[in-house]
Amino acid sequence: MAHDGHRHDHGEGSELPPIALRVKALESLLVEKGYVDPKALDVLIDTYEAKIGPRNGARVVAKAWTDAAFADWLKRDATAAIASLGYTGRQGEHMVALFNTPDTHNMVVCTLCSCYPWPVLGLPPVWYKSMPYRSRAVIEPREVLREFGLSVPEDREVRVWDSTAEVRYLVIPERPEGTEGLSEEQLAAIVTRNAMIGTGVVTA
Ligand code: FE
Repeated sequence: MAHDGHRHDHGEGSELPPIALRVKALESLLVEKGYVDPKALDVLIDTYEAKIGPRNGARVVAKAWTDAAFADWLKRDATAAIASLGYTGRQGEHMVALFNTPDTHNMVVCTLCSCYPWPVLGLPPVWYKSMPYRSRAVIEPREVLREFGLSVPEDREVRVWDSTAEVRYLVIPERPEGTEGLSEEQLAAIVTRNAMIGTGVVTA
């Protein structure tokens, strides 16, 4: 997805918290000693952020699209419904599923830090943890969504959900038209990470 390359307009390396500085220092050392190839490291991180990590969430969405009873369970008790597929663990103990509808578009942020539903989405992308996203998602969500290439019609409400240490959200995007013939597995393949954060939608 092109949106994966989304960057807010602050300089690289600015505003790094202490843990990020320590990771960078460690990374520099490993690269310097020749233990790791920085390109391989980038590929590895990207894999967990965009490919492997969000696949669990994509399976949850595809099942919700194809199994009405499961969708209903997700609405009532997302933690249990998601756990039934085997996706449990830290940072996913209390899940809430947010269903997009023709009237409502849901979008998730963590204004305090970077709370994220690890068991279903993997590692949070860099922009999710950035100060501009965390502050602007609440103040001007429509403008932020436009920067992700998403224009939400004015008659559709944008609801922004602030993650906490207690509750983690998974957006269930709308199933796109023209996907009636697709299997659950094929549907899971078109569900993107950003669509499950609410900074994207699923297209056929
Ligand atoms: Fe947080």
